[in-house]
Amino acid sequence: MCSLKELRLSDGAKTALSYILRHDAVTKADVCRYMDLGPSTAGKYVSELCDKGLLVESGVADSSGGRRPLLYRLNSARYLIFCVDISTIYCEMAVVDMSLDVRILDSFDIRENDTPDSVISRIIDGFTHFCMRLGVSSADFLAAGVSVFSSIRNEHGVLYRPIIQYMSEEWEDYPILDRLKAGLGLPIFAEKGMNATARLEYNYGKGRHSRSMLYVRCGMNLRSVIMKDGDIIGDSPFAEDAFGHMVIDYDGPRCRCGQYGCLNCYASIPAVLDSFRKEVKRGRGTSISADPDSIGIEQVCNAADAGDEAASAIIDNAARMLGVGLANCIRMFSPETVILAGLLPEKSKRYYDVATASVLDRLSIARLDVDFRRNGSFSHSLMIGAGSTVLDHIIELA
Ligand SMILES: [Zn+2]
Repeated sequence: MCSLKELRLSDGAKTALSYILRHDAVTKADVCRYMDLGPSTAGKYVSELCDKGLLVESGVADSSGGRRPLLYRLNSARYLIFCVDISTIYCEMAVVDMSLDVRILDSFDIRENDTPDSVISRIIDGFTHFCMRLGVSSADFLAAGVSVFSSIRNEHGVLYRPIIQYMSEEWEDYPILDRLKAGLGLPIFAEKGMNATARLEYNYGKGRHSRSMLYVRCGMNLRSVIMKDGDIIGDSPFAEDAFGHMVIDYDGPRCRCGQYGCLNCYASIPAVLDSFRKEVKRGRGTSISADPDSIGIEQVCNAADAGDEAASAIIDNAARMLGVGLANCIRMFSPETVILAGLLPEKSKRYYDVATASVLDRLSIARLDVDFRRNGSFSHSLMIGAGSTVLDHIIELA
């Protein structure tokens, strides 16, 4: 029997838990204030969570006078969550606790000749192996959270075809949810990877104090999610890809989507590498001594951040183009927080700095109160985001 079915919480306990999940330790008075309830009702919900094993007493809080109140902390070890991220080139999986701390982690590459069946079978083997290593069984798990490379038709349990199909054609209409559920013996909550990672940041990371957030990942392509008041805005199957396919120069190069001058053609990893290699082949000097065709993105990022002239020029140009796209988006949606994540801002502070400076230049009159953040709060965020969707379902955020 799976633990999720045992965990029937009252609506009040769910609301209290949603607050506790975002805080290290709380008193009953904190829960009262958050829920705007009297002490006895809020206390009842705290007791319910203690009875279910989700909360434990954890010392006492400071007091300005009188008896010092008890502190309660999430008993994160009570239940486990199995997280999976199926990307276009690899699969990561982990067991996390309710604080989203990783207990065990593994990954494998997905190659061109891998079929959906072979990927699912390796995930199921991975789960069995994790359980053996940790000495636990499926009864210790709340559920599995799965993030996938494409939008998912949850009602049918199959994937939408992405704008550009990077994976085996067999993934289209593949019954991914049924196969995982049957193989793992757990309830499955599946979400598109970008949505999962954006919700993770909004609910538990750097966006958690904002009402509205623009989350952008800059990697092999540029993808975005906009969240406002807890919801994803414009959550159509292809909305996140739309950021990278925003046309910023109609005279620009042809994009894989068929349009000309998309943001992806300037500010993504392939665009940066292509421009840099061309410059070096034309004879431009660089501190990177490798053969131009074997130069990797981390080398370009490191060289740019160390002041290499050629690498800096390429990174600056990519980041300024990103700034154009960001400024367009910020003008339209006025997010309080903008998070730039993914390999490019992670590996190059320069890329992040130039992009944000470029946005501020463009928006200096219209808006200055955007809180820019470099990288999210979590490593393996696509996979941990998948795990957090399980928590979101328990407290009914999703
Ligand atoms: Zn495009």
